[in-house]
Amino acid sequence: MKNGPWMFLSAQRRAGTSACACLCLLIFVFSAAAFAGDAPNWSLLDPFQRTMTRADFQLRLDRVFSPGGAFQKFLAQDGDGVAVFDDEQHQQRLYHLQFATDTRRVVKRTFKTLEDLPALKNPPDKPLRGLRIVLDPGHIGGEFARMEERFFKMNNGPAEQEAVQNLIVARLLAARLQRAGATVLFTKNDFKPVTDTNPEQFRELAGKYVQENIAMRPDVRALGELAREAFLLDATRKRMELEFYRNAELRARAALVNERLRPDLTLCIHFNAASDGDRPAPDNRLMVMIHGCYTPDSVDTPQRKFDLLWKLLENSHPTELAAADAISRVMGADMKLPPEPVRFGPNSTAVGNNPYLCARNVIANRLYHGPVVYLEPYYQNNPTTYARLLAGDYDGERAFDGQHLRSIFREYADAVAHGVIEFYARHTLAAPAGR
Ligand SMILES: [Zn+2]
Repeated sequence: MKNGPWMFLSAQRRAGTSACACLCLLIFVFSAAAFAGDAPNWSLLDPFQRTMTRADFQLRLDRVFSPGGAFQKFLAQDGDGVAVFDDEQHQQRLYHLQFATDTRRVVKRTFKTLEDLPALKNPPDKPLRGLRIVLDPGHIGGEFARMEERFFKMNNGPAEQEAVQNLIVARLLAARLQRAGATVLFTKNDFKPVTDTNPEQFRELAGKYVQENIAMRPDVRALGELAREAFLLDATRKRMELEFYRNAELRARAALVNERLRPDLTLCIHFNAASDGDRPAPDNRLMVMIHGCYTPDSVDTPQRKFDLLWKLLENSHPTELAAADAISRVMGADMKLPPEPVRFGPNSTAVGNNPYLCARNVIANRLYHGPVVYLEPYYQNNPTTYARLLAGDYDGERAFDGQHLRSIFREYADAVAHGVIEFYARHTLAAPAGR
Protein backbone atom coordinates (compact mmCIF):
# COMPACT_ATOMS: atom_id res chain seq x y z
CA MET A 1 0.00 0.00 0.00
CA LYS A 2 1.17 3.47 -0.79
CA ASN A 3 1.96 5.65 2.16
CA GLY A 4 0.00 8.82 1.82
CA PRO A 5 -1.07 11.46 4.27
CA TRP A 6 -4.43 9.69 4.44
CA MET A 7 -5.48 6.24 3.50
CA PHE A 8 -8.20 3.72 3.77
CA LEU A 9 -6.70 0.51 5.05
CA SER A 10 -7.58 -1.26 1.88
CA ALA A 11 -6.73 -1.45 -1.76
CA GLN A 12 -8.93 1.56 -2.38
CA ARG A 13 -6.70 3.02 -5.03
CA ARG A 14 -6.51 -0.23 -6.92
CA ALA A 15 -10.23 0.17 -7.50
CA GLY A 16 -9.29 3.12 -9.70
CA THR A 17 -11.11 5.91 -7.95
CA SER A 18 -10.50 9.19 -9.67
CA ALA A 19 -10.32 12.70 -8.33
CA CYS A 20 -13.10 13.53 -5.91
CA ALA A 21 -14.80 10.16 -6.28
CA CYS A 22 -17.07 9.52 -3.35
CA LEU A 23 -16.09 6.26 -1.77
CA CYS A 24 -19.56 5.44 -0.58
CA LEU A 25 -20.81 5.81 -4.12
CA LEU A 26 -18.78 2.87 -5.30
CA ILE A 27 -21.83 0.92 -4.23
CA PHE A 28 -23.56 1.33 -7.57
CA VAL A 29 -20.65 -0.05 -9.56
CA PHE A 30 -20.87 -3.46 -8.01
CA SER A 31 -24.58 -3.92 -7.89
CA ALA A 32 -25.23 -5.12 -11.43
CA ALA A 33 -24.06 -8.69 -11.23
CA ALA A 34 -25.69 -9.48 -7.93
CA PHE A 35 -29.20 -9.49 -9.28
CA ALA A 36 -28.45 -10.58 -12.83
CA GLY A 37 -29.73 -14.11 -12.34
CA ASP A 38 -32.98 -13.19 -10.60
CA ALA A 39 -36.30 -13.42 -12.39
CA PRO A 40 -38.56 -10.63 -11.17
CA ASN A 41 -42.19 -11.26 -10.38
CA TRP A 42 -43.78 -8.79 -12.78
CA SER A 43 -47.25 -9.22 -11.30
CA LEU A 44 -46.02 -7.19 -8.32
CA LEU A 45 -46.37 -4.15 -10.60
CA ASP A 46 -50.05 -4.89 -11.29
CA PRO A 47 -51.34 -2.65 -8.46
CA PHE A 48 -49.75 0.28 -10.33
CA GLN A 49 -51.78 -0.33 -13.49
CA ARG A 50 -53.67 2.83 -14.58
CA THR A 51 -52.24 4.90 -11.69
CA MET A 52 -49.94 7.22 -13.67
CA THR A 53 -50.65 9.26 -16.80
CA ARG A 54 -48.53 8.85 -19.92
CA ALA A 55 -47.29 12.44 -19.55
CA ASP A 56 -46.21 11.93 -15.92
CA PHE A 57 -44.51 8.63 -16.75
CA GLN A 58 -42.59 10.14 -19.66
CA LEU A 59 -41.56 13.26 -17.76
CA ARG A 60 -40.37 11.27 -14.74
CA LEU A 61 -38.39 8.95 -17.02
CA ASP A 62 -36.77 11.72 -19.08
CA ARG A 63 -35.96 14.04 -16.17
CA VAL A 64 -35.10 11.71 -13.29
CA PHE A 65 -34.94 7.97 -13.91
CA SER A 66 -33.38 7.74 -17.34
CA PRO A 67 -32.21 11.18 -18.46
CA GLY A 68 -29.67 9.59 -20.80
CA GLY A 69 -32.39 7.57 -22.58
CA ALA A 70 -31.00 4.16 -21.57
CA PHE A 71 -34.33 2.68 -20.53
CA GLN A 72 -36.48 4.30 -23.21
CA LYS A 73 -34.90 1.98 -25.83
CA PHE A 74 -36.73 -0.96 -24.27
CA LEU A 75 -40.16 0.70 -24.45
CA ALA A 76 -42.84 0.71 -27.15
CA GLN A 77 -45.75 3.08 -26.65
CA ASP A 78 -49.18 1.92 -27.78
CA GLY A 79 -52.79 3.09 -27.58
CA ASP A 80 -53.42 2.66 -23.88
CA GLY A 81 -49.97 2.19 -22.37
CA VAL A 82 -46.41 1.08 -22.93
CA ALA A 83 -44.82 -2.33 -23.50
CA VAL A 84 -41.54 -3.09 -21.77
CA PHE A 85 -39.09 -5.34 -23.62
CA ASP A 86 -35.94 -7.15 -22.55
CA ASP A 87 -34.19 -6.27 -25.82
CA GLU A 88 -33.81 -3.14 -27.89
CA GLN A 89 -35.27 -4.99 -30.92
CA HIS A 90 -38.54 -5.40 -28.97
CA GLN A 91 -38.75 -9.18 -29.44
CA GLN A 92 -39.08 -10.34 -25.82
CA ARG A 93 -41.90 -8.57 -24.02
CA LEU A 94 -41.63 -8.42 -20.23
CA TYR A 95 -44.63 -6.38 -19.20
CA HIS A 96 -47.38 -4.07 -20.39
CA LEU A 97 -48.25 -1.02 -18.35
CA GLN A 98 -51.54 0.81 -18.86
CA PHE A 99 -51.60 4.52 -18.22
CA ALA A 100 -54.18 6.38 -16.19
CA THR A 101 -56.76 8.39 -18.06
CA ASP A 102 -59.43 10.57 -16.42
CA THR A 103 -60.40 7.68 -14.13
CA ARG A 104 -57.11 7.32 -12.33
CA ARG A 105 -56.97 4.42 -9.89
CA VAL A 106 -55.71 5.10 -6.38
CA VAL A 107 -53.03 2.72 -5.19
CA LYS A 108 -52.56 1.91 -1.54
CA ARG A 109 -49.00 2.78 -0.52
CA THR A 110 -47.01 1.87 2.57
CA PHE A 111 -45.70 5.44 2.88
CA LYS A 112 -47.36 8.85 3.11
CA THR A 113 -47.06 11.05 0.05
CA LEU A 114 -47.09 14.86 0.16
CA GLU A 115 -50.85 14.74 -0.46
CA ASP A 116 -51.40 12.46 2.56
CA LEU A 117 -49.54 14.66 5.06
CA PRO A 118 -52.07 17.46 5.76
CA ALA A 119 -54.51 14.85 7.12
CA LEU A 120 -52.17 14.34 10.11
CA LYS A 121 -53.22 17.76 11.52
CA ASN A 122 -50.38 17.70 14.03
CA PRO A 123 -49.88 20.12 16.96
CA PRO A 124 -46.97 22.59 16.55
CA ASP A 125 -44.74 20.77 19.07
CA LYS A 126 -45.22 17.36 17.39
CA PRO A 127 -44.86 17.96 13.65
CA LEU A 128 -43.65 14.37 13.10
CA ARG A 129 -46.50 12.62 14.92
CA GLY A 130 -47.89 9.76 12.84
CA LEU A 131 -44.71 9.40 10.77
CA ARG A 132 -42.41 6.38 10.68
CA ILE A 133 -38.80 7.33 9.97
CA VAL A 134 -36.13 4.67 9.38
CA LEU A 135 -32.50 5.49 10.12
CA ASP A 136 -30.04 3.43 8.08
CA PRO A 137 -26.52 3.97 9.47
CA GLY A 138 -24.16 3.03 6.63
CA HIS A 139 -21.85 -0.03 6.70
CA ILE A 140 -21.55 -2.90 9.19
CA GLY A 141 -18.35 -1.89 11.00
CA GLY A 142 -16.67 -3.63 13.92
CA GLU A 143 -14.96 -6.80 12.79
CA PHE A 144 -16.08 -6.12 9.21
CA ALA A 145 -14.76 -2.55 8.86
CA ARG A 146 -11.46 -3.55 7.21
CA MET A 147 -13.27 -5.93 4.86
CA GLU A 148 -15.69 -3.13 3.94
CA GLU A 149 -12.80 -0.72 3.33
CA ARG A 150 -14.36 1.70 5.79
CA PHE A 151 -11.43 1.78 8.19
CA PHE A 152 -9.68 5.07 7.88
CA LYS A 153 -6.61 6.90 9.16
CA MET A 154 -4.49 9.92 8.22
CA ASN A 155 -0.76 10.42 8.70
CA ASN A 156 -0.46 7.13 10.57
CA GLY A 157 -2.81 8.50 13.24
CA PRO A 158 -5.44 6.38 15.00
CA ALA A 159 -7.98 4.56 12.84
CA GLU A 160 -11.66 5.44 12.75
CA GLN A 161 -14.50 3.39 11.30
CA GLU A 162 -17.21 5.09 9.25
CA ALA A 163 -19.82 2.67 10.68
CA VAL A 164 -19.09 4.05 14.17
CA GLN A 165 -19.52 7.65 13.08
CA ASN A 166 -22.76 6.86 11.24
CA LEU A 167 -24.19 5.03 14.26
CA ILE A 168 -23.36 7.86 16.68
CA VAL A 169 -25.20 10.29 14.40
CA ALA A 170 -28.17 7.93 14.01
CA ARG A 171 -28.62 7.54 17.78
CA LEU A 172 -28.45 11.30 18.38
CA LEU A 173 -30.82 11.92 15.48
CA ALA A 174 -33.32 9.32 16.72
CA ALA A 175 -33.79 11.16 20.03
CA ARG A 176 -34.37 14.48 18.24
CA LEU A 177 -36.93 13.04 15.82
CA GLN A 178 -38.75 11.18 18.62
CA ARG A 179 -39.08 14.42 20.59
CA ALA A 180 -40.88 15.88 17.57
CA GLY A 181 -43.31 12.97 17.61
CA ALA A 182 -41.84 10.54 15.07
CA THR A 183 -41.71 6.76 15.39
CA VAL A 184 -38.02 6.08 14.72
CA LEU A 185 -36.79 2.68 13.56
CA PHE A 186 -33.26 1.46 12.80
CA THR A 187 -32.07 -0.93 10.09
CA LYS A 188 -29.23 -1.73 12.51
CA ASN A 189 -28.09 -0.35 15.86
CA ASP A 190 -24.83 -2.27 16.44
CA PHE A 191 -21.93 -3.77 14.46
CA LYS A 192 -23.62 -7.02 13.45
CA PRO A 193 -24.61 -7.66 9.84
CA VAL A 194 -28.32 -7.68 9.08
CA THR A 195 -27.76 -10.44 6.52
CA ASP A 196 -27.44 -13.98 7.86
CA THR A 197 -25.11 -14.95 5.00
CA ASN A 198 -21.32 -15.06 5.15
CA PRO A 199 -18.63 -14.47 2.53
CA GLU A 200 -17.92 -18.20 2.10
CA GLN A 201 -21.39 -18.74 0.65
CA PHE A 202 -20.46 -16.59 -2.32
CA ARG A 203 -17.30 -18.49 -3.33
CA GLU A 204 -18.82 -20.06 -6.43
CA LEU A 205 -20.56 -16.86 -7.56
CA ALA A 206 -17.38 -14.86 -6.98
CA GLY A 207 -15.24 -17.40 -8.84
CA LYS A 208 -17.57 -17.19 -11.83
CA TYR A 209 -17.48 -13.40 -11.73
CA VAL A 210 -13.68 -13.31 -11.59
CA GLN A 211 -13.32 -15.81 -14.47
CA GLU A 212 -15.74 -13.83 -16.66
CA ASN A 213 -14.64 -10.29 -15.78
CA ILE A 214 -11.10 -10.25 -14.47
CA ALA A 215 -9.14 -13.33 -15.58
CA MET A 216 -9.30 -12.38 -19.27
CA ARG A 217 -8.02 -8.82 -18.78
CA PRO A 218 -4.75 -8.22 -20.72
CA ASP A 219 -2.97 -6.90 -17.62
CA VAL A 220 -3.91 -10.05 -15.69
CA ARG A 221 -2.99 -12.41 -18.54
CA ALA A 222 0.38 -10.69 -18.75
CA LEU A 223 1.25 -11.72 -15.18
CA GLY A 224 3.55 -14.66 -14.51
CA GLU A 225 1.84 -17.96 -13.76
CA LEU A 226 2.21 -17.87 -9.98
CA ALA A 227 1.50 -14.16 -9.73
CA ARG A 228 -1.63 -14.65 -11.82
CA GLU A 229 -2.84 -17.52 -9.64
CA ALA A 230 -2.33 -15.47 -6.48
CA PHE A 231 -3.96 -12.40 -8.02
CA LEU A 232 -7.07 -14.35 -9.00
CA LEU A 233 -7.37 -15.97 -5.57
CA ASP A 234 -7.18 -12.52 -4.00
CA ALA A 235 -9.71 -11.11 -6.48
CA THR A 236 -12.08 -14.00 -5.74
CA ARG A 237 -11.81 -13.41 -2.00
CA LYS A 238 -12.51 -9.70 -2.45
CA ARG A 239 -15.54 -10.46 -4.60
CA MET A 240 -16.89 -12.96 -2.04
CA GLU A 241 -16.58 -10.30 0.63
CA LEU A 242 -18.24 -7.70 -1.56
CA GLU A 243 -21.20 -10.00 -2.27
CA PHE A 244 -21.55 -10.38 1.50
CA TYR A 245 -21.07 -6.90 2.96
CA ARG A 246 -22.59 -4.93 0.12
CA ASN A 247 -25.07 -6.91 -1.94
CA ALA A 248 -26.35 -9.42 0.62
CA GLU A 249 -26.25 -6.91 3.47
CA LEU A 250 -28.20 -4.25 1.60
CA ARG A 251 -30.71 -6.79 0.31
CA ALA A 252 -31.29 -7.93 3.89
CA ARG A 253 -31.75 -4.35 5.03
CA ALA A 254 -34.14 -3.75 2.12
CA ALA A 255 -36.22 -6.78 3.12
CA LEU A 256 -36.40 -5.42 6.66
CA VAL A 257 -37.37 -1.91 5.47
CA ASN A 258 -39.92 -3.10 2.91
CA GLU A 259 -41.57 -5.95 4.78
CA ARG A 260 -41.41 -4.93 8.45
CA LEU A 261 -40.42 -1.31 9.05
CA ARG A 262 -42.52 0.22 6.22
CA PRO A 263 -41.35 3.80 6.76
CA ASP A 264 -42.67 7.09 5.45
CA LEU A 265 -39.05 8.21 5.02
CA THR A 266 -35.67 6.45 5.14
CA LEU A 267 -32.51 8.41 5.93
CA CYS A 268 -29.24 6.74 4.88
CA ILE A 269 -26.50 8.18 7.09
CA HIS A 270 -22.92 8.37 5.82
CA PHE A 271 -19.80 10.51 5.93
CA ASN A 272 -18.20 11.29 2.59
CA ALA A 273 -14.52 11.17 1.64
CA ALA A 274 -12.76 12.85 -1.26
CA SER A 275 -10.19 10.96 -3.29
CA ASP A 276 -7.70 13.32 -4.85
CA GLY A 277 -4.42 11.47 -5.09
CA ASP A 278 -2.67 11.57 -1.74
CA ARG A 279 -3.84 15.06 -0.89
CA PRO A 280 -6.10 15.56 2.12
CA ALA A 281 -9.39 17.28 1.35
CA PRO A 282 -8.87 21.05 1.77
CA ASP A 283 -12.46 21.69 2.86
CA ASN A 284 -15.79 19.98 3.59
CA ARG A 285 -18.82 19.69 1.35
CA LEU A 286 -22.35 18.33 1.36
CA MET A 287 -23.96 15.99 -1.12
CA VAL A 288 -27.46 14.55 -0.78
CA MET A 289 -28.77 11.89 -3.13
CA ILE A 290 -32.18 10.81 -4.25
CA HIS A 291 -32.98 7.90 -6.54
CA GLY A 292 -32.71 8.02 -10.32
CA CYS A 293 -30.32 8.27 -13.26
CA TYR A 294 -30.12 4.69 -14.51
CA THR A 295 -27.23 4.09 -16.91
CA PRO A 296 -27.23 1.58 -19.82
CA ASP A 297 -25.50 -1.05 -17.67
CA SER A 298 -28.03 -0.57 -14.88
CA VAL A 299 -31.04 -1.48 -17.06
CA ASP A 300 -29.45 -4.51 -18.70
CA THR A 301 -31.36 -7.28 -16.91
CA PRO A 302 -35.09 -7.93 -16.35
CA GLN A 303 -34.55 -7.43 -12.60
CA ARG A 304 -33.05 -3.99 -13.07
CA LYS A 305 -35.79 -2.96 -15.49
CA PHE A 306 -38.28 -4.11 -12.86
CA ASP A 307 -36.46 -2.13 -10.13
CA LEU A 308 -36.63 1.07 -12.21
CA LEU A 309 -40.34 0.62 -12.95
CA TRP A 310 -41.14 -0.15 -9.32
CA LYS A 311 -39.40 2.99 -8.05
CA LEU A 312 -40.96 5.14 -10.77
CA LEU A 313 -44.50 3.77 -10.32
CA GLU A 314 -44.53 3.67 -6.51
CA ASN A 315 -44.40 7.44 -6.97
CA SER A 316 -42.10 8.14 -4.04
CA HIS A 317 -40.18 10.65 -6.17
CA PRO A 318 -42.17 13.85 -5.50
CA THR A 319 -42.09 13.28 -1.72
CA GLU A 320 -38.45 12.15 -1.80
CA LEU A 321 -37.41 15.20 -3.82
CA ALA A 322 -39.32 17.63 -1.58
CA ALA A 323 -37.86 16.06 1.58
CA ALA A 324 -34.31 15.95 0.19
CA ASP A 325 -34.57 19.54 -1.05
CA ALA A 326 -35.65 20.86 2.36
CA ILE A 327 -33.23 18.72 4.38
CA SER A 328 -30.20 19.50 2.20
CA ARG A 329 -30.79 23.26 2.23
CA VAL A 330 -31.12 23.30 6.02
CA MET A 331 -28.04 21.06 6.42
CA GLY A 332 -25.97 23.27 4.10
CA ALA A 333 -26.94 26.40 6.03
CA ASP A 334 -26.69 24.97 9.56
CA MET A 335 -23.45 23.07 8.98
CA LYS A 336 -21.99 25.84 6.77
CA LEU A 337 -21.10 23.32 4.08
CA PRO A 338 -20.92 24.32 0.41
CA PRO A 339 -22.17 21.88 -2.24
CA GLU A 340 -19.77 19.52 -4.01
CA PRO A 341 -18.34 20.91 -7.26
CA VAL A 342 -20.65 20.15 -10.17
CA ARG A 343 -19.55 16.89 -11.76
CA PHE A 344 -22.61 15.33 -13.26
CA GLY A 345 -22.07 12.46 -15.64
CA PRO A 346 -23.88 9.42 -16.98
CA ASN A 347 -24.66 8.10 -13.49
CA SER A 348 -25.53 11.33 -11.71
CA THR A 349 -27.93 14.09 -12.67
CA ALA A 350 -28.99 17.43 -11.19
CA VAL A 351 -32.49 17.58 -9.72
CA GLY A 352 -34.71 20.19 -8.14
CA ASN A 353 -32.56 23.22 -9.02
CA ASN A 354 -30.66 22.60 -5.78
CA PRO A 355 -26.82 22.43 -5.93
CA TYR A 356 -26.66 19.98 -3.00
CA LEU A 357 -28.88 17.41 -4.70
CA CYS A 358 -28.28 14.77 -7.31
CA ALA A 359 -30.22 11.75 -8.52
CA ARG A 360 -28.19 8.58 -8.46
CA ASN A 361 -28.91 4.86 -8.59
CA VAL A 362 -27.31 3.16 -5.58
CA ILE A 363 -28.35 -0.15 -4.06
CA ALA A 364 -29.96 1.30 -0.96
CA ASN A 365 -32.11 3.90 -2.66
CA ARG A 366 -33.08 1.41 -5.38
CA LEU A 367 -34.10 -1.49 -3.13
CA TYR A 368 -35.70 0.41 -0.26
CA HIS A 369 -39.35 1.16 -0.96
CA GLY A 370 -40.71 4.64 -0.28
CA PRO A 371 -38.85 7.97 -0.12
CA VAL A 372 -35.12 7.58 0.62
CA VAL A 373 -32.75 10.49 1.31
CA TYR A 374 -29.07 9.53 1.24
CA LEU A 375 -26.85 11.91 3.23
CA GLU A 376 -23.14 12.39 2.57
CA PRO A 377 -21.75 15.43 4.41
CA TYR A 378 -18.11 16.27 5.28
CA TYR A 379 -14.92 14.68 4.00
CA GLN A 380 -13.40 12.23 6.47
CA ASN A 381 -9.99 13.00 4.98
CA ASN A 382 -10.20 16.70 5.74
CA PRO A 383 -7.70 17.11 8.63
CA THR A 384 -10.10 19.10 10.85
CA THR A 385 -12.92 16.61 10.23
CA TYR A 386 -10.61 13.68 10.97
CA ALA A 387 -9.64 15.29 14.31
CA ARG A 388 -13.29 15.97 15.13
CA LEU A 389 -14.26 12.36 14.34
CA LEU A 390 -11.50 11.04 16.57
CA ALA A 391 -12.62 13.36 19.40
CA GLY A 392 -15.95 11.52 19.62
CA ASP A 393 -19.16 13.08 20.93
CA TYR A 394 -18.85 15.74 23.67
CA ASP A 395 -20.75 18.59 25.34
CA GLY A 396 -19.98 22.21 24.51
CA GLU A 397 -17.12 23.22 22.23
CA ARG A 398 -13.51 22.20 21.71
CA ALA A 399 -10.71 23.86 19.78
CA PHE A 400 -9.66 22.46 16.39
CA ASP A 401 -7.18 24.40 14.27
CA GLY A 402 -8.00 27.59 16.19
CA GLN A 403 -11.78 27.19 15.80
CA HIS A 404 -14.13 26.40 18.68
CA LEU A 405 -16.39 23.67 17.37
CA ARG A 406 -19.27 21.53 18.65
CA SER A 407 -19.27 17.75 18.44
CA ILE A 408 -19.38 16.93 14.73
CA PHE A 409 -21.99 14.27 15.47
CA ARG A 410 -24.35 16.75 17.16
CA GLU A 411 -23.78 19.26 14.38
CA TYR A 412 -24.82 16.56 11.84
CA ALA A 413 -27.76 15.18 13.86
CA ASP A 414 -29.12 18.63 14.78
CA ALA A 415 -29.02 19.80 11.17
CA VAL A 416 -30.79 16.71 9.81
CA ALA A 417 -33.44 16.87 12.55
CA HIS A 418 -33.95 20.58 11.81
CA GLY A 419 -34.37 19.83 8.11
CA VAL A 420 -36.74 16.88 8.61
CA ILE A 421 -38.89 18.82 11.09
CA GLU A 422 -38.99 21.92 8.89
CA PHE A 423 -40.00 19.83 5.88
CA TYR A 424 -42.80 17.91 7.57
CA ALA A 425 -44.06 20.89 9.59
CA ARG A 426 -44.91 22.64 6.29
CA HIS A 427 -47.33 19.83 5.49
CA THR A 428 -48.51 18.18 8.71
CA LEU A 429 -49.50 21.00 11.09
CA ALA A 430 -53.16 21.63 11.78
CA ALA A 431 -54.36 25.07 10.66
CA PRO A 432 -54.50 27.49 13.63
CA ALA A 433 -57.95 27.79 15.22
CA GLY A 434 -60.14 30.52 13.81
CA ARG A 435 -58.89 30.14 10.26
ZN1 LIG B 1 -20.46 5.39 3.70
